Amino acid sequence: MRDVCIVGGGVAGLAASIFTARAGLDTLVVDGGESILARNASLENYPGFPDGIDARRYLQLTREQATNAGATFELGHVEGVTAIDETDLDRGFVLETDGGDPLEARRVIAASWSDSDYLVPLDVGRLQRGNKHFVSVDEGGRTAVDGIYAAGRIADEPHQAIIAAGHGAKVGFAVIHDADVNYYQDWVVPEGYFTGRGREVPPACEEIDDEERRRRDERARETMVEALSEPLEERPTMHPSVERDRE
Ligand SMILES: Cc1cc2nc3c(=O)[nH]c(=O)nc-3n(C[C@H](O)[C@H](O)[C@H](O)COP(=O)(O)OP(=O)(O)OC[C@H]3O[C@@H](n4cnc5c(N)ncnc54)[C@H](O)[C@@H]3O)c2cc1C
Repeated sequence: MRDVCIVGGGVAGLAASIFTARAGLDTLVVDGGESILARNASLENYPGFPDGIDARRYLQLTREQATNAGATFELGHVEGVTAIDETDLDRGFVLETDGGDPLEARRVIAASWSDSDYLVPLDVGRLQRGNKHFVSVDEGGRTAVDGIYAAGRIADEPHQAIIAAGHGAKVGFAVIHDADVNYYQDWVVPEGYFTGRGREVPPACEEIDDEERRRRDERARETMVEALSEPLEERPTMHPSVERDRE
């Protein structure tokens, strides 16, 4: 059984997976389609990119980051989630997908804008507005059912990528906390930052020396140079109700 299964590998789900995987939780992301952000034509308000970034490239890079953090991915549309034992939710949940075998996870994060129908059997607390459903959560993304969380737009966060990413990270934190992982903050700091004050390096933090810092910087620059060297051929996905000549 996995520690956490994240339904939806879009902005919020990927951000959550980076944190849970880096905290050492066995993290599986199941995604059944594409992020709504793939419809964007130029992502210009996501901090860190002074002149914006191709939204599909942002998604590609973030997925690569989640993979590097240790998250695994499975293609599939989640169609139902049920408790293994309704009288003992600590025993986890079973996720049915449209293709593969059922998946088991101790905790589930719904990051699946705009589908939460698969949660109906659990009665997590959904709200309908217009033709959309949102999932009610507390400040850590916890729903009314212990072990089930919701992140990003599906949790009624504003419809902006940086907010979905931040919320995903925050919900990842709640999962880490609830899983009793020995954790302080996910920080990488220069050698001596803690130990130079006679403190132990706190759990989930890392002190690195200058040589290692330069090595990591070089790797990070190489990754970005390679990623940005060529334009992506993929065009934004058009709204399904608009016909577009793709010639
Ligand atoms: C046209 C357009 C342009 C936009 N431009 C901007 C912009 O310029 N700046 C900005 O900040 N924001 C922009 N946004 C908003 C931004 O894209 C969203 O707020 C953000 O993507 C929400 O993140 P999320 O993770 O909640 O959902 P998503 O990123 O959509 O991720 C949800 C994921 O869940 C998957 N999924 C859904 N149901 C299931 C299921 N049952 N099983 C498995 N997987 C499932 C989907 O395939 C998807 O990959 C734009 C949105 C649109 C539509």
